Amino acid sequence: MNIHEYQGKSILGKYGVVVPNGYVADSPDKAVEVAKALQAKTGTKFWVIKAQIHAGGRGKGGGVKLAKTLDEVREISKNIIGMRLVTPQTKAEGKLVSKVLVQQDVYYPGEAEIEEFYLSILLNRQIGRNMIVYSPEGGMNIEEVAEKTPELIFKEKINPAVGILPFQCKKVAYNFGLEGQALKMMAKFVASLYKAYIGADASLFEINPVVKTSDNQIMAVDAKVVIDNNALFRQLEIAEMRDTSEEDPIEVEASTFDLNYVKLDGNVGCMVNGAGLAMATMDIIKLSGGEPANFLDVGGAADAKRVEEAFRIILRDENVEAILINIFGGIVRCDRVASGVVEAAKSVDLQIPLIVRLQGTNAKQGKHIIDESGLKVHSAIKLQDAANLVAEVLK
Ligand code: GDP
Ligand code: MN
Repeated sequence: MNIHEYQGKSILGKYGVVVPNGYVADSPDKAVEVAKALQAKTGTKFWVIKAQIHAGGRGKGGGVKLAKTLDEVREISKNIIGMRLVTPQTKAEGKLVSKVLVQQDVYYPGEAEIEEFYLSILLNRQIGRNMIVYSPEGGMNIEEVAEKTPELIFKEKINPAVGILPFQCKKVAYNFGLEGQALKMMAKFVASLYKAYIGADASLFEINPVVKTSDNQIMAVDAKVVIDNNALFRQLEIAEMRDTSEEDPIEVEASTFDLNYVKLDGNVGCMVNGAGLAMATMDIIKLSGGEPANFLDVGGAADAKRVEEAFRIILRDENVEAILINIFGGIVRCDRVASGVVEAAKSVDLQIPLIVRLQGTNAKQGKHIIDESGLKVHSAIKLQDAANLVAEVLK
């Protein structure tokens, strides 16, 4: 699950990771109000106004601005709130901004002495370990650094049995080119950050930039935080941070039915039981000349009600020109699935070609039910036949 920067920073703060002071605001008035409060609390001269959307690259898209007066706080917030922010990480239509983070300016006095680093923690699935990926070349162009000077990207693997060790924290600080007090503060920063990552059941922390101020403070100026969905049951406070307005509306609806749905860009909708079979079905669709419009695993209980919910979800995608149902009947018998499909197709008044492939227990009875239903449904038992049917209806 993705969360907003201001929410991520509140989690970091709880674990002792230093973050700049800031408050979120959803209107220009509120932004001015919190800017005043920030000044009273921290003595900051300037403020940074940051669009809160689930995408990075905001600086480049005009979603991060420095305000030097309260009038500028109001003006900038007015421009950013309600805008569709386009960044290198959003789609062309951008993302609607409904909140800004008003934050103390930490690039204070001698701007020249500010240093920006890149620091991330993520799960490396190949080695089954968490890993710190970091670079002394932080800021807004980390993708370019990775491409042109990969030797400036460092990696540190963490042994899960012992967690992060003090020498590893110091090594990170050393490779950043720090010494003395700054090295010490950075080592502490890395240790707290890792503690937060584990404590919050995160799968990604990306802090770009981590900043060293002229007085040797180390802080997280930006924070991209992704939490492992499988851990949300024990991270109730974090689960509350979900912002469904940032997610694909069809995926949000599917999740309320407990359907495992991921929207894709193709024209053939698919409904399958089991993630592995769903992947294989998407391959078959591609081989037959179509493009899968989605991944959808209806799970074990493919009864009429679930099939109908899945139909409705698939049909909300306007690009869908045909639907392929591929169900393996094990415990759930094919004849029952077939009745469910017929019922559901009637109740949603299906207008596009439907191909149903049922295999497993009572597959023949299932095909019979489909063929006799009076619906314009193509049925198959072999997967190849189903694929050929997909190719045929797409013509
Ligand atoms: P991103 O572009 O979405 O990654 O957003 P960031 O939070 O990384 O902000 C983009 C850039 O804004 C940073 O790289 C900084 O150069 C700048 N910035 C962030 N915080 C401050 C601040 O407190 N003061 C000033 N002057 N600039 C800041
Ligand atoms: Mn950033």
